[in-house]
Amino acid sequence: MIRWIFAGRRPSPVTAKDPTLELLKSDWRCSSCDEWHHGLMDIAAQSPDPWSYDRTYEPNSALRLDGNFLSEDFCVLDGKYFFVRAVLEIPVHGLDNEWGFGCWSTLSQTNFEKYADGFDDGMFEDDGPWFGWLTNQLKFYFEDPDPIAVDVVPQLGRQRPRLFVQEEDHPLAIAQRDGISAEAMLTLLRACGHGPAIQ
Ligand SMILES: [Zn+2]
Repeated sequence: MIRWIFAGRRPSPVTAKDPTLELLKSDWRCSSCDEWHHGLMDIAAQSPDPWSYDRTYEPNSALRLDGNFLSEDFCVLDGKYFFVRAVLEIPVHGLDNEWGFGCWSTLSQTNFEKYADGFDDGMFEDDGPWFGWLTNQLKFYFEDPDPIAVDVVPQLGRQRPRLFVQEEDHPLAIAQRDGISAEAMLTLLRACGHGPAIQ
């Protein structure tokens, strides 16, 4: 019979901690807005970039399709251009939660109305994807002079629609697929006007 002998504890692999990653997991004081942020914070654009009017939100329930309208989730420009608030997620290496970029995408009037009709119940006539153009630039990091085509995927249960960049080789599509480093995430946050003080 084989006798099993105790062979000692196997040392666990030592991994150096990435200080940027640790920072993004902790509470940090923002050098720009002077507030405390808790871990990785999502960033949201208040309106589509082409919206040049007052950014005070009207209630979603007041939605009109003519003229100009802006609420938390809907935007209509000149009665001709239709936008919805969505989220584009980017994984960060070493973090469990994805980073969410709250941003706006165009929709055709037909799909916009479909979205508005199902908004309260979080149930839609079809589950997309609907075609859209991303209308907020992630300044300095994924700045692109050309408009970026996205799939707008409506979500059940009143979650905001998720966006996926259509062009597979676009840096933003690669970031969505493969994730970015904590360092790159920090650069992005700083470009959006938030970042921990440099120690
Ligand atoms: Zn801040």
